[in-house]
Amino acid sequence: MENLNPYQIAQVQFDRAADKLDLEPWMRDLLKTPDRCVTVNFPVKMDDGSVKVFTGYRVQHNDSRGPYKGGIRFSPEVSLDEVKALASWMTWKTALVDVPFGGAKGGVVCDPSKMSRAEIERLTRRFTYEISDIIGPDIDIPAPDVNTNAQIMSWIVDTYSMIQKRNVFGVVTGKPTFLGGSHGRSEATGRGVATVALELLKDEGLEPKGLTAVVQGFGNVGYHAARIFVEKGVKVIGISDISTAMYNPDGIDVEDARKYAEKNDFLLEGYDKAEHLSPKESILEVETDILIPAAVENQITMKNAGNIKAKYVVEGANGPTTPGADKILYEKGIIVVPDLLANAGGVIVSYFEWVQNIQKEQWPYEMVVRKLEEKLISAYKNTRNLAEEERVDMRTAAYMIAIDRVAKAIRTRGIYP
Ligand code: NAD
Repeated sequence: MENLNPYQIAQVQFDRAADKLDLEPWMRDLLKTPDRCVTVNFPVKMDDGSVKVFTGYRVQHNDSRGPYKGGIRFSPEVSLDEVKALASWMTWKTALVDVPFGGAKGGVVCDPSKMSRAEIERLTRRFTYEISDIIGPDIDIPAPDVNTNAQIMSWIVDTYSMIQKRNVFGVVTGKPTFLGGSHGRSEATGRGVATVALELLKDEGLEPKGLTAVVQGFGNVGYHAARIFVEKGVKVIGISDISTAMYNPDGIDVEDARKYAEKNDFLLEGYDKAEHLSPKESILEVETDILIPAAVENQITMKNAGNIKAKYVVEGANGPTTPGADKILYEKGIIVVPDLLANAGGVIVSYFEWVQNIQKEQWPYEMVVRKLEEKLISAYKNTRNLAEEERVDMRTAAYMIAIDRVAKAIRTRGIYP
């Protein structure tokens, strides 16, 4: 159970929920496998005059409820199995928060930290060309993910627009606000994590003021979640990143730590206003009310789940808890708000961006935040209610709602021909 890769984990999670639903056997088979996996191998000219061949993937899991949607990551760790898992999680996420999209994901095996900006641009443009037949605003809409950003999205827009011989801003989301991007997109996932956590506290009859939080991962998701917690009166007593973990029972000055990291290659190492913990993973075991894993996969495992002292775990990262750990946490009475729900803020605002592009409009920031909170809180309530009704953990409930919606769309559309 512990040595599963992300694709196998996604399958275990799917099965746990599918067992509770009365799914036709063919539907189960269909939903467990992606609609299409595309692998491309392509050459890129490097700055020193040499040519390197790169491998990229675009996996389209399901589009019964709307165009495929999901990010593109650039990382040496990218594998087809990882992309397949992430693509299926996008199908369930978009269904759970009820935005009219399906699920996809993409990736290129590369190490952008060892490439120049010009090399990354050429790689992005050639990869866009390689997948240009299967993406588009009504077909499949990529977005930023690990090591990709608004600049890379702009290169994708430009390349796709050149191929189509017209501007097509709606081909990706996560663009800069001056090129069709939405206000509030960059903070959306972290804001969503905080929104869901605060709603959970409300349900539990708790006021945020005086409660404590620990955040693992101090990047886009972790920083914004921590910042909003502080705004709402929650004391952030622990933060960590790839370089170190820090603890201060009196509270960490999140803005000060962020400013330090920005000047230090985005690393917290060397920050001297908190105690540094070793190993950095022990941050997960600190006594706190709320724990936010917002770094990478497989952080809460059967090894450390028994030592987790938080009352609530709200998953900012994708796949931070293994299926074995899920069982242990549930038995300990720790409430886990699953990634599908807790980190859906990004895809919700991506949907708003796509709508704004189609309408040729730009909504004010306050409107984006209000609409984001409405969608997330509604999905949270549905999930929590079903978990209580069915006496299952919130992850299984979230999957049940999502699978049911996708299956209903497929059944109602019927099978072609
Ligand atoms: P990021 O690259 O901005 O930040 C990641 C942070 O995690 C960095 O501080 C990094 O140092 C830290 N980190 C990496 N490995 C670590 C480790 N082993 N231990 C502790 N810290 C570690 O990435 P992000 O956009 O914040 O994404 C974080 C997670 O959230 C990922 O799982 C991602 O898939 C997920 N997510 C992100 C978004 C989004 O909109 N950015 C949306 C949904 C899900």
